[in-house]
Amino acid sequence: MSDNIVVALRLRPFISRELNEENEKYWEAQENTIVQYEPTTKKPINSFAFDEVFDVNITNEKIYNDLAHPIVQSGLAGFNGTIFAYGQTSSGKTYTMTGTSSTLGIIPLAIQNIFNSIENMPDREFLLRASYMEIYQENIYDLLTGEKISTIREDSHGQDYGPRYKRSLLAVMSDGDKRRKVGETNMNERSSRSHSIFRLIIESKERGDKDCQGAITVSHLNLVDLAGSENASQTGAVGERLREGGSINRSLFMLGRVISQLSEGEQHINFRDSKLTRILQNSLGGNAKTVIICTVTPANKEQTLSTVRFACRAK
Ligand code: ADP
Ligand code: MG
Repeated sequence: MSDNIVVALRLRPFISRELNEENEKYWEAQENTIVQYEPTTKKPINSFAFDEVFDVNITNEKIYNDLAHPIVQSGLAGFNGTIFAYGQTSSGKTYTMTGTSSTLGIIPLAIQNIFNSIENMPDREFLLRASYMEIYQENIYDLLTGEKISTIREDSHGQDYGPRYKRSLLAVMSDGDKRRKVGETNMNERSSRSHSIFRLIIESKERGDKDCQGAITVSHLNLVDLAGSENASQTGAVGERLREGGSINRSLFMLGRVISQLSEGEQHINFRDSKLTRILQNSLGGNAKTVIICTVTPANKEQTLSTVRFACRAK
């Protein structure tokens, strides 16, 4: 087990669709565990422990402070970090990572936090770059240009955003969001069928160091909204949708395997088995910090169980 990998679980409240359908409540948070109930007898039948469990009323800000703030701060100090949101469609991944028009998610909160922190570090000079990518059926797209990226470059690419341009960095996020591929399934009218990776590259050096005698630190901060983890068969998918489902399941499986290999401290890590793990290779393992936020709904027995199992495997 590694301290550099944190697995957290977030339970969202019932949404109106689930209330309308009068869905049963199968799950409840209790301290750092999630308890599975038999809805008819109201008896607990199982419980699973995590590093942190966030109950239905916990805000994005609290989650940011507990899970993301430490990663952002170590990113400013030169360490790579990655935050994943994993869960079935409509469990709250995008709510957690991006937020809504009224509630900021981890990405905009991280941008704010980074700019505020930089202002308080007058001795260092910063360069920020950002990229926003999407992996759809094992192809990588640049969400800022819409172009397909044909080769993964080991060095970082991304456009430059000087510290004065907080607004433009937030605009990068919303421009990219508009381009995200969404498809129709029976589970959710806007279910995401792709992984999206918002990457901030933070470069800094001591101010006034003209001969570059001091070290330049460069770190990557990856904020990842994964594709829905539901099985293609369960969403009534056919044709293209079924094919998408297959490649999503495969890449999520590969991700789970890489994370469990890292947390077991294994020698060989299967980074090259999927585009997602290849893109993130330099930001996973070693000194890098990783947080996986598993988002679940109390109103679904099987999908929540499958997410819980993924989370348990990851640790
Ligand atoms: P996903 O990205 O996993 O498909 P969304 O983030 O789009 O799911 O969430 C589905 C719906 O549930 C959205 O309407 C969202 O606003 C709402 N929702 C998700 N998480 C929460 C939460 N913690 N509190 C309140 N509403 C939430
Ligand atoms: Mg989403």
